[in-house]
Amino acid sequence: MTDIVKQLVHTVGVDAIVSAERLHQRATSYWDPSPTKAKCMVCPDSTDALSQVMQICSEYRQTVVVQGGLTGTVEGAVSTSDDVIISLERMNKIESVDAVDGIAVIQAGAVMQTVQEQLAEQGFLFPVDFGARGSATIGGAAATNAGGLNVLRYGMMRNLVLGLEAVLADGTVISSMNQMLKNNTGYDLKQLFIGSEGTLGIVTRVVVRLYPMCTSRQTAMLATHSFDGVTKSLQAMRVELGGTLSAFEVMWNSYYRAVTGPKGHPAPLDREYPYYVLAESEGYNSAEDDARFQNLLEELVNDGDIADAVIPKSEKERGALWTVREDFEPALPAYLYDVSLPIRAMTTYVDRLSGKLSKWRSEAAGLVFGHIADGNLHIFVTPYDDGEHHQAVDEIVYGCLDGLSGSISAEHGIGIEKRQWLGKTRSEAEIALMRTLKKTLDPRNLLNPGKVVD
Ligand SMILES: Cc1cc2nc3c(=O)[nH]c(=O)nc-3n(C[C@H](O)[C@H](O)[C@H](O)COP(=O)(O)OP(=O)(O)OC[C@H]3O[C@@H](n4cnc5c(N)ncnc54)[C@H](O)[C@@H]3O)c2cc1C
Repeated sequence: MTDIVKQLVHTVGVDAIVSAERLHQRATSYWDPSPTKAKCMVCPDSTDALSQVMQICSEYRQTVVVQGGLTGTVEGAVSTSDDVIISLERMNKIESVDAVDGIAVIQAGAVMQTVQEQLAEQGFLFPVDFGARGSATIGGAAATNAGGLNVLRYGMMRNLVLGLEAVLADGTVISSMNQMLKNNTGYDLKQLFIGSEGTLGIVTRVVVRLYPMCTSRQTAMLATHSFDGVTKSLQAMRVELGGTLSAFEVMWNSYYRAVTGPKGHPAPLDREYPYYVLAESEGYNSAEDDARFQNLLEELVNDGDIADAVIPKSEKERGALWTVREDFEPALPAYLYDVSLPIRAMTTYVDRLSGKLSKWRSEAAGLVFGHIADGNLHIFVTPYDDGEHHQAVDEIVYGCLDGLSGSISAEHGIGIEKRQWLGKTRSEAEIALMRTLKKTLDPRNLLNPGKVVD
C-alpha cells in the first residue's frame, strides 16, 4: 500500500476504500470494457470526509478523477494507474423536498432514475431524463450539464440547478446552496461547476427545481416525406399544444433502419420514410390534452406534413416506440458524435456529411438522430473497424460544421475525446479564460487533469 493510500485509509476508514486490485474487475466505463486503473477508489460518506480526502491529495500532489455512473461519452471519467478515483456512491440520498418552494436537495451520488422515481411518488417531476438514467448520477449530470429528452420544455441541468455545493482541489468547501430562482448577488458560482466535468471542483450536493408531476401524456411516432414536414410539425406542436410539448425526437431514415428490422427492434412504421419523429406532450387534463393532440395530428396529416403516424394504446406500446429511439444497441459498434447547429442548417449538414463520408470510404455511413428542437444531432458513423479511423472520422464530422454556426459538443461535454477540437467552437480568448479559471481553482492541476483543457 502506498503512503497516500495508507493515509486515506486512516482518514476515511478501510470500508471507504476500494483497492487497485478490486478496481481491475470493473469496466472503465459504459463504453469501454477494459479494467479500471487507479491507485485506489475513495468513497467518502459526507462533504466533510471528502474535504479531508482532498486536503490529503493536495498535500501529496495526488491527481484525482471523479466518477459518477460512468455513462459519459467523452472519456471524462477515465483514470490512469497514477490517479485516485473519488466516487460519491455513498452520498446518494434525497436530503429534503420542499413542496411549497418546489425544490429538492439531492446528494451528488444519487442515481438519476432513483431520484425521478422517489420524487414521482411525492407528486414531483425532475425533468432531466435520458437513456442512461439507470446509472448516471445527479453529480455526473451537473458536472456534464446533461440535457436529454425534455430540454425543449424544461432546459438542461444548468437551468434546473438552483444551488450547489462543491469541494475544491485543496479541500475548501464552497457551499452555494441557493434555494431561490432569483439571487443576483455577484457571480453565479454554481455555474462554474456545472459543465466543468470534474476539473474545477467535486459536486457534492445540489438544490434542484421541481415541477408538479403531469397527469396526462400523449405520444405519437410520425413519419414525414421531408424535413420541411418535420419542422412544420415542430412549429405546430409548439404553438398549438399550449406549451405541453415535452419531447420531439427526430430519427433520420439511416438511424431508423439501423435499429429496426430483422436484427433490431420491430419497426412501428414502414422503414422507407426519410424522417421519423417521436413526439410527446404532457399536461394536466387528460380529455382536453388527448383531443388537442389528436386534432393537431389530423390537421398535420390532412395538410400533408405527416405521411403516417402511430399512437400507442398502452404503456407497453409507448415503451416500444421509445425503445426504437433510446436503445441504439443494434446500430453499434459505431463512432458516436453529439453536435449542435441551428435547425435551419441541419439538412445542409447531413447532406454534406453523407457526401464526405461516402467519398472517404464507399461503405461509410452516418446514422443520424437527435433532439432537434434543441439544435442537437447525434451521429453514429459506421463501420467502426475497432476505432482505427477515429481521427479521420472526427475531421469529417467536425469539418462539416464549418460555416454553419455549430458546436462540436451539444450535451456530452469535452472530456479527453474532444479536447483537440475545442478550438473549433471556442475562441482563443475563451480557451485562455478557461485555463485561467482552472489555474485559479486548481493551481496544482490535480482535478481530472488533461480533461476539457490541457
Ligand atoms: C445510453 C446513453 C444515453 C445518453 N443520453 C444522454 C442524453 O440524452 N443527454 C446527455 O446529456 N447525456 C447523455 N448521455 C451521457 C451521460 O449519461 C451523461 O453525460 C451523464 O450526465 C453522465 O453522468 P455519470 O454519473 O455517468 O457521470 P460519469 O460518466 O461518471 O462522469 C462524467 C463526467 O463528470 C465528472 N463527474 C462525475 N461526477 C462528478 C461530481 N460529483 N463532481 C464533479 N464531477 C463529476 C466526471 O469526472 C466526468 O468528467 C448518455 C449516455 C448513455 C450511455
